Amino acid sequence: MNSKEKPWLGNPQNTISILQKYGFRFQKKYGQNFLIDPHVLGKITAAAGVTEEDFVVEIGPGIGTLTQYLAHAAREVCAVEIDRNLLPILEDTLSAWPNVTVIHQDILKTDLQKLAEEKNQGKPMKIVANLPYYITTPIIMGLLEKQVPMESMTVMVQKEVAQRMQAEPGSREYGALSLAVRYYAEPYLAANVPPNCFIPRPNVGSAVIRLTRRERPPVETRDPALMFRLIRAAFNQRRKTLLNGLRNDPELNLSREAAEAAIVHCGLDPSVRGETLGLAEYGALADYLTETH
Ligand code: SAM
Repeated sequence: MNSKEKPWLGNPQNTISILQKYGFRFQKKYGQNFLIDPHVLGKITAAAGVTEEDFVVEIGPGIGTLTQYLAHAAREVCAVEIDRNLLPILEDTLSAWPNVTVIHQDILKTDLQKLAEEKNQGKPMKIVANLPYYITTPIIMGLLEKQVPMESMTVMVQKEVAQRMQAEPGSREYGALSLAVRYYAEPYLAANVPPNCFIPRPNVGSAVIRLTRRERPPVETRDPALMFRLIRAAFNQRRKTLLNGLRNDPELNLSREAAEAAIVHCGLDPSVRGETLGLAEYGALADYLTETH
C-alpha cells in the first residue's frame, strides 16, 4: 500500500478514530500524550533535519503519529515502544511504511550501539522523540554519557527542562543539567508547544529542543567524572557558596582548607556561588584537585 492511501494521524479526528477502533486506554505511568498538530509534527521533523540518507531512532512512537512523518523523510526508522497495547495499532498505522521497524522494549534498556551497528554500519544516527516526561533526564543523560553513536537528538520535553538545558551561568534555570548538556552537545530551541497540541493535554508547557553532539567537549579536563561530581556538589546546595557545597559533599571528602585552596588557585573568590561558574571553571577545579589529591 502506498503511504498516500493511509490516513495521516497528525490531527484530532484521525487520532480519535484510531484510539476508538482499538479501544485504547491511555496509561499515565508511561507519560502518554499524543501529538495531534500537523504543524508541530512538521517542525520536529524539520528541526531534526531528517533526510533520506538517515537512520532514525524514535523513542516512544505511541500510535505512530510522528513515526509516519519520520518514515516519510528518512531512509529507515526504528521505533522503540514500551506499551504492548500499542503494538497492534502501530502495525496498522505504519503498514504503508516498509522502512519502519517497531521494537517492543524499554528505551532505557535498549542497546542502541548494537542497533547502530546493525542498521547504520555503526555510524551516528539521529534520535527523535516526543519524550515521556517522567524519564526525560535519564533518557537524555543516558544517551549523552554512554557515547551512543548519535549525531543529534531532537526531542519534545517539558518547557522548564528545555530552559534548564539551554540556561547560561547566573540565570535562575542554570544547574547541573545545563552544564552536562553543554559538555556533550550544543542545544538549540526549535519551538514552544502549548498543551492543546496533544491528546490528552499535559498540564505543563512543552518545547522542542535539538541537541547536536559535539565532536570534542568544550573543555579538556583530565577527570570528567570528578568535574561532574564537583558540579553536583555545587548545585546540591544551591543557596550556599561553592566552598560549602564542596566541603559538605560526602563523596568528595574535602577539608575546608583543601576546598578553599582549590577555589583560590582557580582565581575565584572563596565566597563565589557555584551557579555563576561555567564548564571552564569546573574543569580547572577538577584538574587542580586531580593534581593535588
Ligand atoms: N510519539 C507519540 C506522539 O508524539 O504522539 C507518543 C509520545 S508519548 C509523549 C510517549 C511515548 O513513549 C508513549 O507511547 C509511551 O508509551 C512511550 N514510553 C514511555 N516510557 C517508555 C520507555 N521507557 N521506553 C519506550 N517507550 C516508552
